[in-house]
Amino acid sequence: LSQLFRPLDMLGFVYRTIRQGVIDMGSMFDLLDTNAEVKDAPGAQPLRVERGHLRLEGVHFAYDPDREILKGIDIDVPAGSTVAVVGPSGAGKSTLARLIFRFYDLTGGRITIDGQDIAQVTQASLRAAIGIVPQDTVLFNDTIGYNIAYGREGATQDEIADAARGAAIAGFIQSLPDGFDTRVGERGLKLSGGEKQRVAIARTLVKNPPVLILDEATSALDSRTEADIQATLEAIGRGRTTIVIAHRLSTVVNADRIVVLESGRVAEQGTHSQLLRKRGLYAEMWARQAQEREAGEDPVPAE
Ligand code: ATP
Repeated sequence: LSQLFRPLDMLGFVYRTIRQGVIDMGSMFDLLDTNAEVKDAPGAQPLRVERGHLRLEGVHFAYDPDREILKGIDIDVPAGSTVAVVGPSGAGKSTLARLIFRFYDLTGGRITIDGQDIAQVTQASLRAAIGIVPQDTVLFNDTIGYNIAYGREGATQDEIADAARGAAIAGFIQSLPDGFDTRVGERGLKLSGGEKQRVAIARTLVKNPPVLILDEATSALDSRTEADIQATLEAIGRGRTTIVIAHRLSTVVNADRIVVLESGRVAEQGTHSQLLRKRGLYAEMWARQAQEREAGEDPVPAE
């Protein structure tokens, strides 16, 4: 059965609207139908990841044929580096993440990992190579241990415990009366937004993928929790090819490169300091967010 769940890692993207962050089996099967149009190419071979060099080359995409969302995107993510994608709301950031996971096929261009077109390899191998920490984590109505182990079939108890430590949630789990056997989800213990995100991080650590997609939470976590989670995410991204979909600029300052998307195109890219010197869209967004921070307002998403 867990084999069947594997393509569901993208649930968080799709089910952003599910407020409680918990779903039942029935709704998961509905979801499976939504990407039925993506099929393995005839004779598709498994992806062979060597170093994890991710490239987007002239990527075009439209959900609806008469409204193009991505209009020729080139992004190079060298193996082991972190590239952040920022830009106004609706620019196409989350769409980009979905395409790397091949949740949809492109309408033009290609995406490669170590030179292999992701549309030409088996979906199972592609999805095994990519870990996603989504905005809203979906928890199964099962134990917290199961929810972590779901990252990879056959994960051992030791691996689950290691992952929980890596995600800084082991102490919390130990404090629960039934530890890893505590039931979570709508029929069990309700976890906070931050705790759920840590379960997602632990799930990803169990999977140990060479490529990571982090879709930063837009939902309000208190600033201390957010900073703690940010530190954990930075730690798990080290040594892996990482693409961060960022809604707050303060979290991308340390990225190796920042790509600014605007209306489906790359408006500019560079490091934080290079982009500030450019005095373009990024500098403008940064100044606006800095003003908001000074005014003591709640952090506002980068849009
Ligand atoms: P935000 O920062 O607000 O999350 P974003 O940059 O991630 O925005 P996307 O979610 O990628 O933007 O959306 C880009 C555009 O694609 C939007 O105009 C959106 O309405 C449209 N879009 C997103 N998902 C779908 C979908 N499933 N079907 C049709 N259009 C969609």
